[in-house]
Order: sequence, then C-alpha cells, then structure tokens
Amino acid sequence: MTQGNFSGWADGAAWQWLASIYGANFANEAVRYLLAASLLWLIVHVLLKKRLAHRLIAQWPSARDVRREMSYSFLSLLVFAAVGMMTVMMVIKGHWVVYRNPTERGVAWLVASLPLMLIWHDFYFYWTHRLMHSRWLFRHVHGLHHRSRHPSPWAAYAFHPLEALVNALMMPLALCAVPLPGIVLFVVGIHQIVRNAHGHLAVETMPRGFARHWLGGRFTTTTHHHMHHETAKGNYGLWFTWWDRIGGTEQADYLARFDAATPAWPSGTSANKLSIVEQ
Ligand SMILES: [Zn+2]
Ligand SMILES: [Zn+2]
Repeated sequence: MTQGNFSGWADGAAWQWLASIYGANFANEAVRYLLAASLLWLIVHVLLKKRLAHRLIAQWPSARDVRREMSYSFLSLLVFAAVGMMTVMMVIKGHWVVYRNPTERGVAWLVASLPLMLIWHDFYFYWTHRLMHSRWLFRHVHGLHHRSRHPSPWAAYAFHPLEALVNALMMPLALCAVPLPGIVLFVVGIHQIVRNAHGHLAVETMPRGFARHWLGGRFTTTTHHHMHHETAKGNYGLWFTWWDRIGGTEQADYLARFDAATPAWPSGTSANKLSIVEQ
C-alpha cells in the first residue's frame, strides 16, 4: 500500500500503518515532555533546590500534585498523538503543506513564520484560556489543571482531555491557513514544551528586573503563570504579556511578586516564604 492509497483497510495493512503513525507521534510527544519536565525537575527541584530556595515563588509542589500532573499529562499525550496522526494524514493527502526544504517557499517566509507561529499560538491560547475560565468549562474541564495551586514542571500537559484537544488544535488550524516549513514546526514544538514546563517550575529563574525590562517584560515568566494557578484569576497569557495588558487581566501585584521572587541577595533561608511542603 502506498501512503496516499488506502486500499489496504480490508487486510489490515492500512490500520497498521495508521497505528504506526499514531505510535510515532505519541513517542515524539512523550519523549519531549519527559525530557523537558524531568530535566527541569532534576536541576531546579533536586540538584539546586537549596541554592534556589530564595527564588521559590510560594510553595514547593506536593508529591501528590506531581503524581496527578503526570497521570493527566499521559492522557493528554494520547490526545496529542491523535491530533498529530490526523495532521500527518492531511499532509499526506495533500490538504495541508509541511515542506522539508526550509527555503522552498522563500527565505522571507522561513524567517517570518516562526515568530508568526508564536504570536498565533499566544493569541489562540489566551482567548481559549479565557473561555476555559467561563463557569461551566472551568467546573467541568479547566478546573483540573488548576487543582495544582503550586504546580511542578510535570503539570505542563495536566489537562482534561477536552482541553488537551483544544490546545492541540493550534497547529492544525495554522496549517489550514498557511504552508509551513517542517523545521518551524519542530522549533515551535520544542519551544512550547520547554517554556510550558518552565512556566510551571514554581521557582523564578529569570534575572532580577526582567519583568520590568522594556523587552523582558513582554515575555511571561514562571511567576506570571504561578500566580494564575494560585488564584485562577488573571495572568491568562502563554508566551507574552501583551494580551493580559490589553485585556486588563494582568494581576495587579505581578511585578511586586516577581521582585519578591528575585531578591537581590539570597536571604539564606526560605523562612520568609509561605510554609513549605516537602516532598
Ligand atoms: Zn498551568
Ligand atoms: Zn487557567
């Protein structure tokens, strides 16, 4: 059976082929998630835990939270793999275009498509996220992600399956509109899991003054998203702060909390923080 020919359904070859695409997508997503979350966890929550205690935003995540975050992230990976499989099928059938040669559609599009994808993803997430905070959706869907008031990097994909589906549609929706170089899809994928896991780190790693800097202040930080988990109100943005600023949803004490999480000099203890939950 050729890739574009589905005459093998009866003898099972097509199903096997489909299963192999699903499996490859699942493995790809799972490896990225495991690598990003485990490396951040190992470096910040294990190796540098004492050295970075003064940068703890509020509390260390509990072991119970971490177990739940891992379980739901695994479920989300199953959903992402299904969307990935559907995307591959659409590309193979010629409905959507993902091309191998990065400059096939011009250098200008190669250079522009990456920032455009990040801006699109941020826009899509901010507005769907606000929708997720509507009463019914929060109670039945998005509230699950908010069960972690003090999340860990493992919370990166800790969504209800319906929310995982909504989040995963970002890429297919982009491909409905424009052809994309494969390398841009790859970079967008790496960027999203690294920054997603980093946003749930519970420890602020950016330099002091970053959130008040004219350029740095345009990017979300771990403190930004951690505050969203604490109150489930405000700070809905993903990669950039501008939608929260335009929409008037940035938490009033965001900059003060960022300053508090990035003291000029370590106090030596984390006693000034809220009570700390040890693992
Ligand atoms: Zn979150
Ligand atoms: Zn939320």
